[in-house]
Amino acid sequence: MQVLILGAGQLARMMSLAGAPLNIQVMAYDVGSQTVVHPLTLQRYDFSLAQAIEGVDVITAEFEHIPHDVLDVCGASGKFLPTTDAIKAGGDRRLEKALLDRAGVANAKYHIINTRADLDAAIAHVGLPMVLKSALGGYDGKGQWRLKERSQADAIWEEMAAFLTETPEQAIVAEEFVPFDREVSLIGVRNRQGEVRVYPITENVHVDGVLNLSTAIVDAQAIQQQADEMFTAVANALNYVGVLAIEFFDVGGKLLVNEIAPRVHNSGHWTQQGAETCQFENHLRAVCDLPLGSTALLRPTAMINILGEDQIPASVVATAGTHVHWYGKEKRAGRKMGHINVCANTPAELENQLKALATQLDALAFPALPR
Ligand code: AMP
Repeated sequence: MQVLILGAGQLARMMSLAGAPLNIQVMAYDVGSQTVVHPLTLQRYDFSLAQAIEGVDVITAEFEHIPHDVLDVCGASGKFLPTTDAIKAGGDRRLEKALLDRAGVANAKYHIINTRADLDAAIAHVGLPMVLKSALGGYDGKGQWRLKERSQADAIWEEMAAFLTETPEQAIVAEEFVPFDREVSLIGVRNRQGEVRVYPITENVHVDGVLNLSTAIVDAQAIQQQADEMFTAVANALNYVGVLAIEFFDVGGKLLVNEIAPRVHNSGHWTQQGAETCQFENHLRAVCDLPLGSTALLRPTAMINILGEDQIPASVVATAGTHVHWYGKEKRAGRKMGHINVCANTPAELENQLKALATQLDALAFPALPR
């Protein structure tokens, strides 16, 4: 089986690694340089996107910010999964909100802003404080503002107006500020026959909008059930095929969807060591029409993101239950360079493992670790 992935980052890399034992060969399309590359070595292949589309069995994506002309060409081949609509919804918060409403799942109250008058209407409809998010191109907290008081509205509008003129078709989605207790996500997979399997829900700690630490939750029955139902509603509404991630706010035990990612997701990296079948393999199984793998938890597992660092102490690598995954990227401040999966026999043991690792890792680079 030959699979082309749109996007040539770490997610394509990890799908390629997961696909090899199944004899699934992966190549990646680097949207920036518009070249087809090997997902591990990033060496360029000597053929065009059109030739790659022609040659592969299946096309999928590792991120949602893909030019629509590329998506449309891939969609027209009849080989693209999960569906081009799902990718477009993941890349545009207006479409995403419409999808969530259509699927009937709870999400933060919102209002779409194109003009100064819309901002006033948003304040009336959504209330203050509010979070303002760019409709296009936003991720990891980028393109976001917080509006706390009406007196700040003119100043914030000036900034937003400049931002809106930078990109055609851009808009702002104003969202009520959600006083959440914690952030959780659900990773699941749906196949072509409509069968759905979900992983245990994951608790996520973000710092400055960027994921730092994810922990699979072992005993979260009440929210797991809510999340499973919302997952199925969204995946069915999209007739989705592949791995889908949904991020939620947990407010007193009630879940509200924050956003969806129509792809494998950073908060699912723990499944490489913590689940029977990892998210990368299950995505490939789904899009290649192979039977889905078990999503059962093997053991309590957490994932620590390595941000902006290209080295970690050898003592971390030496720690039992610890697995380091580097992405082979050049070091840049804040960049996702790799992650560490940490496994233990019990949740209490996992907490102790994380505390022990915290003593070996720099507090500034790993701020979410328990200390
Ligand atoms: P996002 O890119 O939408 O996931 O936002 C990045 C982070 O900002 C989230 O992980 C939350 O920590 C925070 N955030 C986003 N939207 C809201 C909201 N409506 N209320 C409170 N915090 C939010």
